[in-house]
Amino acid sequence: MKKIALLMLCFGFLSAHAQLRNNDVYEETEMNHSIVRDIIRIPDIGGYQTLKCDFHTHTVFSDGKVWPDVRVNEAWRGGLDAIAITDHIEYRPHKDIVKGDLNESFKIARKRGDEIGFIVIQGTEITRSKPLGHLNGLFISDANPMDVEDPLEAIDIAIKQGGFVMWNHPGWPDDKSTLYPVHEQLIKEKKIHGIEVFNYMEYYPVAFDWCKETNLAFMGNTDIHELISEDYGSHKLSRPLTLVFATEYSEKGIKEALFAGRSAAYFNGQLAGKAEHLTALFKASLVWKVKHADMGAYEVSNMSDITYRFTCNNKLYILPAGKAVGLVLPKEGKITILNCYTGMNEHLEIDLPL
Ligand SMILES: [Zn+2]
Ligand SMILES: [Zn+2]
Repeated sequence: MKKIALLMLCFGFLSAHAQLRNNDVYEETEMNHSIVRDIIRIPDIGGYQTLKCDFHTHTVFSDGKVWPDVRVNEAWRGGLDAIAITDHIEYRPHKDIVKGDLNESFKIARKRGDEIGFIVIQGTEITRSKPLGHLNGLFISDANPMDVEDPLEAIDIAIKQGGFVMWNHPGWPDDKSTLYPVHEQLIKEKKIHGIEVFNYMEYYPVAFDWCKETNLAFMGNTDIHELISEDYGSHKLSRPLTLVFATEYSEKGIKEALFAGRSAAYFNGQLAGKAEHLTALFKASLVWKVKHADMGAYEVSNMSDITYRFTCNNKLYILPAGKAVGLVLPKEGKITILNCYTGMNEHLEIDLPL
């Protein structure tokens, strides 16, 4: 019966049925989007898996607009490998309607993650005005004891639970990214482990230098409150990501990599990270075919979803995502990759020959 209905639908004979619905319409038409996800092509590097993660998301349990399992579904559908749920401790405007303690949103999201084999990391956002600002405790086991007056005590509790502490959006809300003495002290005491260099739709270039100089993890996250599609559209790779270079696809693998500073931040076609990681990503993205060896002529296929732009001897070259281009390069010298940042005013440089 369903097949007949489907055939009739294909040939436009709708009038024979008063109603077609659910499986009559969707079965065998590949229209079930809940089982389809994007593939983000960013290569693995040097023995590590490159995992696409977002370590900063909100739900209705703080000031977000969605139920926690929706966060998991949309991240899975967008091609991510892991997210953290990081509702505010101190700011919960719906708490009279949405019941539950500070771990509830994570529990709901984790349950959904377990159902579909997707990693959900427990986190929370310690929320204060500047100078301290906002910090996420990630990989924590219980957010409830962190609800204390002194934010430095909350950080200590996160660390006692084995937590990774990320300094969030250092430029927000005054457009000034300032490394205050309290941050210098926390970094010195190894109580800040990573910094968001991209958050939502903002960049904080000075934070590239802080990560580089203090060997902290480069992080790029959405801090999403609405549906992802409302803020970023439905295009692949439109949301900021933290790329984690992990030894294994597990929460343990992600945590180990972040504490070791093996990460890079991606947003809007730009990458920020350590030179060794960005060099490896660039090289692993490309397949070179020699056309004329003596002329230095190549056909280069960019197998990744990241378009690279570089200069060599003041000439601009573009390697579009998923395309092959013909180009001629000198045998020696350097290329400067414009969309890869290793510091505030520093682009990635790679020696020729590649
Ligand atoms: Zn925040
Ligand atoms: Zn936030």
